This record gives sequence, C-alpha cells and structure tokens, in this order.
Amino acid sequence: MSEYPIGNKITTKKLKSESVPYLKYHESFDISNLYTSSGLYVENVDHFENTLHFYCKSSDTTGVCPYCRYKSRQVHSRYQRCVNDLSILGKVVKLTLEVRKFFCKNSNCSKKTFAEQPGNEVFRYRRRTRRCETAVIRQGLSVSSGMASRLLSLSGIVLSRSTILRDLHRLRPSTYEDVEEIGIDDWAWRKGISYGTIVIDLRRKCPIDLLGKREESSFRSWMENHNEVSLVSRDRSTAYSSAIGSIDRPITEIADKFHLIKKMSDRFTKLIGEHYSDYRNAIRESQAVKEEIMYNELESWIKRFDLCQ
Ligand SMILES: [Zn+2]
Repeated sequence: MSEYPIGNKITTKKLKSESVPYLKYHESFDISNLYTSSGLYVENVDHFENTLHFYCKSSDTTGVCPYCRYKSRQVHSRYQRCVNDLSILGKVVKLTLEVRKFFCKNSNCSKKTFAEQPGNEVFRYRRRTRRCETAVIRQGLSVSSGMASRLLSLSGIVLSRSTILRDLHRLRPSTYEDVEEIGIDDWAWRKGISYGTIVIDLRRKCPIDLLGKREESSFRSWMENHNEVSLVSRDRSTAYSSAIGSIDRPITEIADKFHLIKKMSDRFTKLIGEHYSDYRNAIRESQAVKEEIMYNELESWIKRFDLCQ
C-alpha cells in the first residue's frame, strides 16, 4: 500500500499478515463434475476447433425397462449416441454417450431388450439435452424463430429457424378449466396461405387453444364443448359471429379493442378526406382566433407597463 510522496521519497507501510485477503481454491474441481448432477459420468473431454466433446456414460449401474419398469443389470450390447448440450464459454458442447442395451428379465414384459436413457437430461429420440431444449424454447417464445436462431448461434447453439419452429409446435397449450371469457382471432399456420383460430383466456391473458381452421363449424363445435363460456371478444369476421349466433345459450359478444380503434381511425380518416377543405378552414380559423387572443393579451400587458412607468 503506497502513500503520497513526502519530498522525493515514497513511504510504504507493510500490511499485517492477517489482513491480507487470499482466495481458497477447490483443488480437486474438474469441469466434468458439472455433469454429475445430470447422472452422467464423464470419461474423457476433447477439444476440437470450436467444439467441446464430452465422452460420457450413465453413472447408474442398472437400467430400467421403459415398458415395465423392471431393473436389470444384464448388459446385451453397447452403442454410441451423440446429443448437443448447452454451450460452455460460447463453444459448442457435444455429449458422446455410451449407451447400454439390457435384457429385460420380466416374463410379463413384451420386450426382451431395452436401451437405457443415460442420466436425467437425455430422452429417447432427442438430439439435444432437456436443458438445451428448454433454452431454445424460451428464446423461441420471446422473439421470432429467425432472431432466436441468430441469438442462439452467438451462444454456441446452432439451429435453423425451422428446427426452432418445430420445437415450438411440439408444445402443448396450457391447461384450462372453467374459462368464462375468451377472445378469438385468426392465427397463421403459414402467413398468407393457411389460417386457424387462436383462443385466448381474457382473464389470465394467455392462449389456451388453437383450432385447425377459422371456419364457423370448427369454432361452433369448440363452443359446444365449453358451456361455461359466456363472453366472446372477436373481430368483425362473420364466421365467428354466425357460430356464436347458432348456439342456444346467451353469449355476450364484444368487439376487440384493436378492431374498435382501427374502425374509428379508418372512419375518421375517411371523414377528413371527404370534407378536407372545411377541415382546413376550421384549423385556420382556430389558429387566427388563438393569434388574436395572444395579441390582445400582449397589448394589455404593454398598456399596464406604460401606466407603471
Ligand atoms: Zn420390460
């Protein structure tokens, strides 16, 4: 620790040994320990260009039959499987898994052998770990698929926009019960080509269902299966209106806010276009009146100033 110089000298003070902060390091830490919580044992790590390869296998000694839940230790064979994981320091992470096939000894089971699903992050037929899929879905729900693809590639997860869309389409809408107030609108499966209907729970403000079509029949059948719905906010589509009209119970229909404002805006623009000369004269007159008022006020202030002088 140095102090300000006195003359040409710089005086220093030694710190007491007990006040010197020092860091303690966990000497036995290894990056492969990160995968222990995933139920994986890392045998080797390799680094090639921008990719980290983790060679792993299940840390469990037994395999569980997915068909009958029977635990088996008798190994039939082994094979390799590759899945992508979350990146580390922006580098692509690939897990090369040694997967065991076990004999199922349960006589009631229809299968003789089964493949284990190593760890708790890897599932059947998936090319990515669960945490990687979660990150992709979270990003895909926040922004467009193209933007999500670009942002994810910056953090080392390289996926096309169509892959992200496929993941999103696999999601199921949230469960709902006793929904009384809904909003409906068109929803594009492919913009400009095919449309369906999206159903929104107005109270929770979240989508609850997607209908394959935007026709009267599909929405009517949905409404007939949801007798608790008593209020529908909709656009000016005649299909939705006639579907609601054909149902035997009373349902309150309201125009949604977007279309109300749009209709008012369109009408206002049309009205001004039809009477533009009157509108322009009215604006000019109001400006002239304002200017006259300001001039009169200014004049009265000047007169008062003159009197004070
Ligand atoms: Zn079995």
